Amino acid sequence: MEKLLQSEFGFQQIEIKKLNGYENENYLVKTNTNNYIFKTYNYNEELNDFVEAENEVLLSLQESNNNRYPAPIQFADTSYVKTLDIKSEKKTCRMLSFLQGESFGDVKPTKELFQSFGIFLAELDIKLQGLTNYTIKARQWGWIMQYLEQNKIYIDDIPNAKDRNTVSYFFQQYEENVRLLLPGLRKQIIHNDANEWNVIVNNGEVTSIIDFGDLAHSQLINELAIAIAYACLEIENPLEWATIILKSYHSKLPIEENEIKVLYYLVAARLSISVCNSAYSRKTNPDNKYASVSEKSAWKMLYRWLRINPLYAERKFREAIGLAVERPLTIEEVTEKRQQHISPILSLSYDKPIYMVGSAFQYMYDAYGNTYLDAYNNIPHVGHSHPKVVAAGQQQMAKLNTNTRYLYDQLDEYAEKLLQRFPSTLNKVYFVNSGSAASDLAIRMAKIHTGFERIMVMEHGYHGNTQVAIDISDYKFTNPKGQGKKDYILKTPIPDTYRGKYNRQENNAGKKYAQEAIVQIDTSNLPVAAFISEPIVGCGGQVPLTDGYLKEVYPAIRKQGGICISDEVQTGFGRLGDHFWGFEAHDVVPDIVIIGKPMANGHPMGAVICTSEIAESFSKGVEFFSSFGGNPVSCAIATSVLEVIEEDELQANAKLVGDYYKSLFIELQKKYDCIGDVRGSGLFLGIEITKANSLEPDVELAHFIKNEMRSQHILIGTDGPFDNVIKTKPPLCFTKENAKEVVDTLNNILKTYYSKV
Ligand code: PMP
Repeated sequence: MEKLLQSEFGFQQIEIKKLNGYENENYLVKTNTNNYIFKTYNYNEELNDFVEAENEVLLSLQESNNNRYPAPIQFADTSYVKTLDIKSEKKTCRMLSFLQGESFGDVKPTKELFQSFGIFLAELDIKLQGLTNYTIKARQWGWIMQYLEQNKIYIDDIPNAKDRNTVSYFFQQYEENVRLLLPGLRKQIIHNDANEWNVIVNNGEVTSIIDFGDLAHSQLINELAIAIAYACLEIENPLEWATIILKSYHSKLPIEENEIKVLYYLVAARLSISVCNSAYSRKTNPDNKYASVSEKSAWKMLYRWLRINPLYAERKFREAIGLAVERPLTIEEVTEKRQQHISPILSLSYDKPIYMVGSAFQYMYDAYGNTYLDAYNNIPHVGHSHPKVVAAGQQQMAKLNTNTRYLYDQLDEYAEKLLQRFPSTLNKVYFVNSGSAASDLAIRMAKIHTGFERIMVMEHGYHGNTQVAIDISDYKFTNPKGQGKKDYILKTPIPDTYRGKYNRQENNAGKKYAQEAIVQIDTSNLPVAAFISEPIVGCGGQVPLTDGYLKEVYPAIRKQGGICISDEVQTGFGRLGDHFWGFEAHDVVPDIVIIGKPMANGHPMGAVICTSEIAESFSKGVEFFSSFGGNPVSCAIATSVLEVIEEDELQANAKLVGDYYKSLFIELQKKYDCIGDVRGSGLFLGIEITKANSLEPDVELAHFIKNEMRSQHILIGTDGPFDNVIKTKPPLCFTKENAKEVVDTLNNILKTYYSKV
């Protein structure tokens, strides 16, 4: 190498040191007069052309006294780029001036540093503005943001499902929020890689930038997005610091309004591209440490970014460059608007309702820029806006949506996949559009199959909003404003070991409750067609049916000719951690199961699953048809939900995080005597708030907690017959950190509360 440099450049007294490089080999060359960087690349024609193009750009950037950009150094024959044989390998080679200073990544972040970065970058982009280069223009590769889809093939190289989902989410958000706006965004040659190791700092200011190997003809705003992505990697409040760079860049090269609209998504997209490539490179070239140098911090930053409401980011960006920030309607205004057409009988959660505009996994975003940790909503079972579920819906919607009067694969595929999750006796499925429609249909089937009319229901149970569903829901019919119990309903007391007659100290409490139910069945003047119950009574206050109860009651129902229905609308699909369905925890097999809510992650879908005998009886009657039930779009979405549960191991996560979450509440219970009971399993928990050391519900405190949590951006709810049970049933992607955040916040709320009373 030394000889080569002497002959090719006429250098004397050379010292050579090998440096890090992503795909090429770089050497620091020290001569008696100057320092240089010698770059060699494995030869290929395309790359050679690109190096020539890069060289042209660098030459056009040179200024007198230039220390800002590397200067190409001529070979002895006056060329700048040459193909040489090095150790019998053909290499494209060139020499650049060495720029002195520290790497941005090694310097403590200061406001001045970030300001100088913005200005420096804007000045570079102004210089690049006038350049045209067809080799650069023709380049299409994954590191150029508008070609980010090329990175999707690397997603599978990311080892952890949660990380894969986050990257897929941000790629999808790019498609949703950026792709359509691309034609309106300015394009030019940009450096395209202002990362923390390419930016050089002297005396606390950015003075130079190196490595023009990623030059791209791309949207100008990408330059800034990339700079922000890397500059803020280690920063706790990246948005605040991002605005410093933005503002100073804007002072030299004004940013346009449509560029601001996409900036949040571009920062995330660049981080996502980076982690994808790190994962790929770790797999293919584990020794190349440089390729994953920013990986750990990129993940950290990506998760910090996810917690930033995109609307908040846009507002902050607009403010930074003096653009008007639109005031969203106030809560009062939106509420009033809603109530012009929507009846107040549709209640709103919290004293101060929330005006939602977006969501991602376990987070929800409101119109005022807040991010909420969702510890409440079980319908977005696998996470809000889960990219796989969204894609499944979008793709199927763009292809075919029809009804069950035609043959199509999606119905059969989903039915098969779903039924694999059930005991073999439960082998026929009917699709509808809600849990209510499912319970309604289940009752109809039970009556047809048994020829009986009477339905036994659980105290405090809830099964939906149709007339039949209300009839069988004590939660509704016993409400002071409810319709009262219909004659055909037999209501049985809830086997609740906290408030009920037999408590946890009682031996065989389940059996004792069951005996009483059996007496009711036996003494009923009409035979019972069906007994319907949830395994954990949700709206009734997250009350698990006492162990051993169903095991006694089911045979008694069957003995007199009835059937048993398990309502798994809330408890199904792995939420309970130990079991995929709630009935499994009771060691029983129902004759009918109804499902809904989480089934399609928020897309309206429900189903009745039953035995072939019941299906046969039902088939003797009039045709069953649901216009939307089991349509291809619903089936595609529901299939993706089952796949995500499996791929992301969400049942195991519900168990792991749920057990931890519950243990934290139990610890808290030791500190505060207002926590009367902690119950439930997996990510389906109830915390009963009572007056100190009594069963008397403390509704006021429960509501206070709920609303305080809301004001601290955590979503939980209250329910139960007295509305004093705090319910938490988050999306199953909830983490231990999320669980701790909820319990810590509750702890602080109670601490403050008791310090005042
Ligand atoms: N069953 C149970 C146990 C429920 O919790 C609900 C809804 N809360 C339903 C049925 C009714 O489902 P939907 O609201 O989808 O009609």
